[in-house]
Amino acid sequence: MKIGNFIGGAFVAARSGATIEDVNPATEETIATIPDSNAADVDDAVRAARLAFPAWSGTPAAERSRLLLKLADLIERDLEPLARLESEDSGKALSLARRLDIPRAVANFRFFATAILHDSTEAHVDAGLSLNYTMRQPLGVAGLISPWNLPLYLLSWKIAPAIAAGNSCVAKPSELTPLTANRLAELAGEAGIPAGVVNVVHGYGNKAGRALTSHDDVPMISFTGGTATGAAVATNAAPRFKKLSLELGGKNPNVVFADADLDEAVATSVRSSFWNQGEICLCGSRIFVERSIHDVFVERLVAATRALRVGDPLDPDTDIGALVSEAHMRKVLGYVQVARDEGGTIATGGTRVDRKGYFVEPCVITGLGCDCRVLQEEIFGPVVTVTPFDGEAQSVEFANATRYGLSASVWTRDLGRAHRVAAAIDCGTVWVNCWLVRDLRVPFGGMKESGVGREGGFESLRFFSEAKNVCVKW
Ligand code: NDP
Repeated sequence: MKIGNFIGGAFVAARSGATIEDVNPATEETIATIPDSNAADVDDAVRAARLAFPAWSGTPAAERSRLLLKLADLIERDLEPLARLESEDSGKALSLARRLDIPRAVANFRFFATAILHDSTEAHVDAGLSLNYTMRQPLGVAGLISPWNLPLYLLSWKIAPAIAAGNSCVAKPSELTPLTANRLAELAGEAGIPAGVVNVVHGYGNKAGRALTSHDDVPMISFTGGTATGAAVATNAAPRFKKLSLELGGKNPNVVFADADLDEAVATSVRSSFWNQGEICLCGSRIFVERSIHDVFVERLVAATRALRVGDPLDPDTDIGALVSEAHMRKVLGYVQVARDEGGTIATGGTRVDRKGYFVEPCVITGLGCDCRVLQEEIFGPVVTVTPFDGEAQSVEFANATRYGLSASVWTRDLGRAHRVAAAIDCGTVWVNCWLVRDLRVPFGGMKESGVGREGGFESLRFFSEAKNVCVKW
């Protein structure tokens, strides 16, 4: 398969003609070539988006909504082939792509398509003096950069609000997982979204991505990816005074108190540790368990982890597929070695599976404290640590002992404690007795080095618009 950039409604090769090979990580075979775009290609895409902006931003919200709903229907129609593309591109289990990735892309378009029909703005009356009302206007071309772990899910989480709010956009998906973005571009055309409103430029982050984040005609950047990359994006964007939303890495705590429903806590912890091979920013990679139940929790977690089936992502019985690339697999295996060097015990897994593809047995590590590298650095793979704690105060201390602050889970039957601990953990989302339950209306984002700004619901629509106050004399 040879895919092109989608610019001004047409598929085109990179101006330089250069390409990148896209590899299926489960088979190690090249499945596509994509454009290795540079600043000239990004410039073409931004120009097309600028041309489309006046008409699109002037299109009534009801019509924009209709077109986005059509696009959602088309994604739903193509759920099966899209799920397959996602699985082959990223290594994730096809069953998960069917259940999570593609349905969520549909939901994202439906959510923002209808949200714009119910939005309203504020008015402030200073009686006898003035009437103020707030306008929220689209800004122009949105630069959207997304990672490889949930390719269509996260890209649609950006494209949908950006264009629903009346902007045009240039998206740069990860070069490791370009295929569903390519198909989305086609579907946008089929839905009747005007040429130039959605543009997709493929290529490397430090070339195409950097060109987008430093482009003078792109007034806003929504970026999801690693914390170090986020810093590079901010360095480019800040002196150009771009609006910036950064959704970055995580090292999320999963805190289990002795009074928790242990069956639920273990079952959900298996998912929150290993779903999508642990390649979800919201995975709970640091499990803290109250000391009195630590050993029984570990025993049950290890047994449940060993029962997971690692293998061919297309097999409906597979729980855990391949890691996204050889380089990423080596990084993950490297951290298992770091855990050994730091004195940790590998309770299960942590080895490469003896077959073609980048498969790693899900790994549970015990015996490490909060200062160890394995509890400090984001691994972003099927590796989880379990550490005992004593009492509520220490649970919070351990949960906060990281530079990240994306999300947390807390397991307890004590309602008062649930509220206290949720309030005390420094992160953007706390789940109590659950994980990854997502209501699209709620604010989403990270504290500390997990990000800047919030997306989700009206927060996204506010990010993708500029507030203007109009003051009228009384
Ligand atoms: P990266 O930060 O490596 O890449 C993210 C995107 O940025 C990719 O499209 C990448 O392109 C691009 N990029 C890389 N360098 C630059 C640059 N200098 N300027 C502009 N763009 C650039 O992240 P990964 O793709 O490895 O994704 C994993 C990370 O994403 C993890 O840290 C994870 O926690 C985080 N994440 C955060 C989420 C959140 O909501 N907070 C959700 C999901 C993931 P290329 O692939 O070509 O390098």
